[in-house]
Amino acid sequence: MKADFKLLIGGVLVDGASTFDVINPATEQIVAKCPKADAAQLDEAIAAAKAAFPSWSALGYDARGALIEKMADAIVANKDELARLLTTEQGKPLDQAVYEVMGTSFVLRAFAAMRAPEKVVREDSGSRVIEHRTPLGVVASITPWNFPLILLANKLGPCLVSGNCMVAKPAPTTPLTTLLFAELTREILPAGVFNVVCDENELGPLLSSHPDVAKVAFTGSTATGKKVMASAAKGVKRVTLELGGNDAAIVLDDMAPAVAARKVFQGAMANAGQICVAIKRAYVHESIYDEFCEEIARLAEAAVVDDGTKQGTTIGPVQNRMQYDKVKSLIESARDGGTFLAGGDLPDGPGFFIPPTIVAGLDDDAPLVREEQFGPVLPILKFSDVDDVVRRANDSDYGLAGTVWGRDLERAMEVARRIDSGTVWVNQHLAIDPTLPFRGAKQSGLGAELGQAGLHEYTQAHVINAVELEEL
Ligand code: NAD
Repeated sequence: MKADFKLLIGGVLVDGASTFDVINPATEQIVAKCPKADAAQLDEAIAAAKAAFPSWSALGYDARGALIEKMADAIVANKDELARLLTTEQGKPLDQAVYEVMGTSFVLRAFAAMRAPEKVVREDSGSRVIEHRTPLGVVASITPWNFPLILLANKLGPCLVSGNCMVAKPAPTTPLTTLLFAELTREILPAGVFNVVCDENELGPLLSSHPDVAKVAFTGSTATGKKVMASAAKGVKRVTLELGGNDAAIVLDDMAPAVAARKVFQGAMANAGQICVAIKRAYVHESIYDEFCEEIARLAEAAVVDDGTKQGTTIGPVQNRMQYDKVKSLIESARDGGTFLAGGDLPDGPGFFIPPTIVAGLDDDAPLVREEQFGPVLPILKFSDVDDVVRRANDSDYGLAGTVWGRDLERAMEVARRIDSGTVWVNQHLAIDPTLPFRGAKQSGLGAELGQAGLHEYTQAHVINAVELEEL
């Protein structure tokens, strides 16, 4: 496995000012030393992006799209190495890592083909109003540790195709796949168009307050998102914030309980529950509650929790020690009033392993129900009345996504309409599509990522309002 990683600044692979260790969450062994940029290297990266901007933005959509396609090709050509490294630093099972890597190429291709064409807003005899969109300049991408590659692609695709340049900063615990990807782009993109710097949480505030950064594209926790927004406010920078969630699944009474249990289990436990839109609380109608609980507990017991590089593993470790401790303490808190249907006992190390844990009987105000657990632990709650369950699902500061499960599609969609979130999936989960906008309501985010609306977030709308003068 590759051991030598470099930062990408101005088209050159460089050492950091220092290094830090990246830990494999399955073994707690060091994967590699990561180069760490200091503030001077961050300034260099921003200056390189700024210098590359005039010629990159002048290139036009088609030429930029063709280069983004080449980046997608490079990902596919190196998918095995990227996926293995992703599993080693992030923990997810290898098949899920391959899925993320291929998804990254898919997102890039979708944006390579996307355009923000000039729009005629109004036209009548003698007057014409048009809106066209111009790139912003230097964009900072700040990403978390759960999907290091695809969350970067969600930003890099629209950023580059619309003519901006980027300085990307991955999360400190999963920087290596981003660095390997950056290395692959070096031969493809003009110098300075895409730069990557790594840190141990120091550079985020410098990026979001830097006068030469026009926009911050952030994915991470709501707490950090608030800091990014406050820091960006000083320069009235553009921000998009994709933040935390506490998504509810509502299982209606006409749903087959075994099917619902399978879908909800998958939606809650993929990537060891570390998905912003993972199902984080499940409300199940009382008429099917017992059967649902029995089946989801059976699925939890059958899961194979192990090192993601081993064949047959279905759930890998939690990504880092801090998150492991947080999930562990939420499990402990659930002992007060909760009934454990599966899991709950954590194995001794090494590795941050948490078996899928299903807890019934908690109050709506229990920490495991109210807070974002971001781990393989799911509370199951009973309901009898649809109006009441809608109220309970909406009783949260978060509003990222949610799911409704029911055989009667019209009725399920009616319930979905009433959920106060950016997205609701009906009878499916995680149907994220790069051509559809994705956004959080309430404290789950600001602005759109993906889709045409996501592309527009990387541009400034520019209205030109012209009339013919008869006197001329
Ligand atoms: P985090 O907020 O701790 O860190 C995210 C990134 O912000 C990291 O790169 C970190 O180094 C950086 N950062 C830290 N302090 C900063 C500061 N003051 N200014 C700027 N940047 C700073 O999040 P995490 O723990 O890495 O990720 C988990 C969270 O991300 C969960 O809440 C999850 O729901 C959320 N998430 C949201 C989405 C979405 O699309 N809405 C997707 C994935 C994850």
